[in-house]
Amino acid sequence: MKAVAVFPGPQEVKIVEQEFPRLTQPDQVLLRILDAGICGTDREICSFEYGTPPPGDDYLVIGHESLAEVVDVGTAVERLAPGDLVVPSVRRPCPHPCCLACRSGHQDYCYTGDFSERGIKEAHGYMAEYVVDHEQYMNVVPPHLRDIGVLAEPLTIAEKAVAQIFWMMQQRPPWIAPETPREERGQGLSALVLGIGPVGLLGAMVLVTAGFTTYVYSRELPPSPRIDLVEAIGAIYVSSQAATFGQLTEQIGNIDLIYEAVGHSHFALQALQVLGTNGIFVLTGVPGLQAFVEADPARLMREMVLKNQVLLGTVNAGPDAFASALRDLDRFRRRWPAVVSTLIGGRYPPEQAPDLILGRPAGIKSVIAF
Ligand code: BGC
Repeated sequence: MKAVAVFPGPQEVKIVEQEFPRLTQPDQVLLRILDAGICGTDREICSFEYGTPPPGDDYLVIGHESLAEVVDVGTAVERLAPGDLVVPSVRRPCPHPCCLACRSGHQDYCYTGDFSERGIKEAHGYMAEYVVDHEQYMNVVPPHLRDIGVLAEPLTIAEKAVAQIFWMMQQRPPWIAPETPREERGQGLSALVLGIGPVGLLGAMVLVTAGFTTYVYSRELPPSPRIDLVEAIGAIYVSSQAATFGQLTEQIGNIDLIYEAVGHSHFALQALQVLGTNGIFVLTGVPGLQAFVEADPARLMREMVLKNQVLLGTVNAGPDAFASALRDLDRFRRRWPAVVSTLIGGRYPPEQAPDLILGRPAGIKSVIAF
């Protein structure tokens, strides 16, 4: 059975032959992987800047964005049957009894750091023909989302962030009615998305559907299918090659929300300086090693206090975020059918995975299809 693996020792990324996985516990399911998405985290792992093989192994099977078909189930499995489509979540709980987050099924909030992440940290991932996993981590995908279900995992990043922002917005600012429905929460507010990769674009789609006047800011210049996509969903694109952060603020006015989806610390720090009064800044990127930059922390601190600002880091994601991601994929499909059909730039065989991961990303999301 084929899998795509990273060997940090000799610094290689290649196809490996693995034994066919078998069910060994009654709550397990055997999955046939249909699609595995490629993202920036895979690029970092394959550049040997991130990621850890499972204890005792000298390689890590990568892949954490996936869509799979259940082909066999253990005797204790109740929710799933062969033929069902699923998207597995990524994080698995730490073993410590004191970790309230993991013990209550919220390992995305793990306190100890001893969690594992499939395809990223100490657990093999889903870029393989077959995988065994536990029923509790499976999110059922309706059959009509077969073509785009692989986007659920990257979309959970925005879903978890937005759920937290909305929770905060029930109290602040105090004049917003706590019962305001989701699609009206952003009314009259502006959101700035940093980055035009899949996480940024999916984030922009979520923010547009929540009513924010949404701007997307990135280096890219037209013509670009990504910029076309931004405009097709009713967001406004501004290139950082055409406007500075200062000019952007003049155009937008008070920036109520910044959604960072680049993973570039310098860029994020610059953006923090233009966050508006009562603004919320959400960080989703996980930067690798980057150059030191000079900052003026006193100014930042003064602004944050005097403007009631919030800085929020968020890592995906729990079952609620997966459920809302699947609901939103369906919503997006109905609202922007032409856009959604372009989200997956291409499906490629596993043999092409190393080149695709390390090469310049083509299209919006490249997918390895098994
Ligand atoms: C994955 C998350 C993971 C994070 C940090 C992201 O690319 O989507 O599931 O928690 O990387 O490792």
